[in-house]
Amino acid sequence: MSGRVAVVTGANRGIGREVAAQLAAAGDTVVLTARDHRKAQDAADALAGLGVGGAVVAHQLEVTHRAGAAALAEFVGERFGRLDVLVNNAAIHYDTQQTAAAADLTIVRQALETNLLGAWQVTQALLPLLRGSGHGRIVNVSSEGGSLTNMGGGIPAYRASKAALNALTRMLAAELRSDGILVNSVCPGWVATDMGGPGGRPVHDGAASIMWVIDLPDAGPTGGFYRDGRPLPW
Ligand code: NAP
Repeated sequence: MSGRVAVVTGANRGIGREVAAQLAAAGDTVVLTARDHRKAQDAADALAGLGVGGAVVAHQLEVTHRAGAAALAEFVGERFGRLDVLVNNAAIHYDTQQTAAAADLTIVRQALETNLLGAWQVTQALLPLLRGSGHGRIVNVSSEGGSLTNMGGGIPAYRASKAALNALTRMLAAELRSDGILVNSVCPGWVATDMGGPGGRPVHDGAASIMWVIDLPDAGPTGGFYRDGRPLPW
């Protein structure tokens, strides 16, 4: 399905930017958001310069700001009247240097603010427009690091925030099934970005893992956790 209207958070660089590029290449209209409007505009201009298929529109969004989420919803509503795809991608604090036993809880709070509550708040603001789609998709970009099944020590702020994000996926999936909205968590794998560092796989592959969930048919799964189209343990 192309011709969708999509919002991607944290899309000025890394995996978010590549997801925006792949959506546009599929002919979708992308609202490319970033907390710095200039960076959103530069990324949107760069994608437009590549001659991608669908329109790419820049919009400022700091996911922790409630008023900003409301302003984005107003913009999307006035401009497009509906929203088909929301990709909650923005995230911070891959805190490999920390342990749970000695974690700086300020870092943990910041991670929860952005990675969990930011995604939650943006979703709430955009829900009326997603309900108007009839084919809504919410993708929470998570990480296998948030999987409880194999969780060990370390990376506490990030892991706790992604485990909680996965819980949000499960709740929203159950609540929004009757609205025709599929809600899934995705791990993009280890990807060579500013967060992932060198050595990971290309952003193209990480973004493709996210596109698989976006492209699910209406009768497809909801409330799942996937990487590269295969289920991951919670
Ligand atoms: P990245 O290169 O660090 O990019 C993160 C993006 O999030 C940036 O655009 C950043 O904007 C934005 N952001 C951070 N806080 C924000 C806020 N409060 N409001 C709005 N935007 C905000 O990370 P990435 O590797 O592309 O990761 C993308 C997603 O994949 C994340 O959810 C991450 O947890 C997940 N993931 C990544 C890997 C990996 O190996 N890379 C593995 C598993 C999961 P600024 O430029 O303004 O900072």
